[in-house]
Amino acid sequence: MSLTDRGRMARLRISPVPLQPLLPLFHRLNREHFSGALVCCGQPLTAVRWSDGRMSRTAGYYRRGPGVGEGRGSEIVLSRPVLEPLPQEATESTLCHEMIHAWVDLVQRRRESHGPLFRAQMAAINAAQSRFQVSVRHNYPIPVRPPRWVAVCASCQRRTPCRRRIRHAACRSCCNQHHGGRWHPSCLLHYEPAE
Ligand SMILES: [Zn+2]
Ligand SMILES: [Zn+2]
Repeated sequence: MSLTDRGRMARLRISPVPLQPLLPLFHRLNREHFSGALVCCGQPLTAVRWSDGRMSRTAGYYRRGPGVGEGRGSEIVLSRPVLEPLPQEATESTLCHEMIHAWVDLVQRRRESHGPLFRAQMAAINAAQSRFQVSVRHNYPIPVRPPRWVAVCASCQRRTPCRRRIRHAACRSCCNQHHGGRWHPSCLLHYEPAE
């Protein structure tokens, strides 16, 4: 695949459907379930944003630290690749989960992750409405990334899709068959970009 093709693919993966803006949702959830405590002078206490297209291991996170959230000191990030294909309740539930973390941290000023304060607030929100449910874990299907490489054995020419390149890796079946199971340079794998 050429570099231009790859650039085109990367652009195509970004859905043309506009993502739901998070701030109005944040303000509504803040009013409905946090008594307005997560907003001060009209400004959210934490930055809120969608991830870029690469964050695919989790649906969302909250973090605090110097320089985080463009200097705001904390941020909530929701995963675009995980949440984009799912119904809007998933976005709402994930945002609400991360808002509970922000509330525990910035309003209650307690150091806990999914501790008693978090769980009590989560239970209260789940009991108060039936539009979405917040859970301790984000149980959403994580999109499977297609393997980026094909490993090709110099000896048997067998082609195996793989996610990462490993230096000096050799073909297991050739090493077993011809070299008593020991690594041998004649069975080194080389890598080609997957189609
Ligand atoms: Zn959490
Ligand atoms: Zn081989």
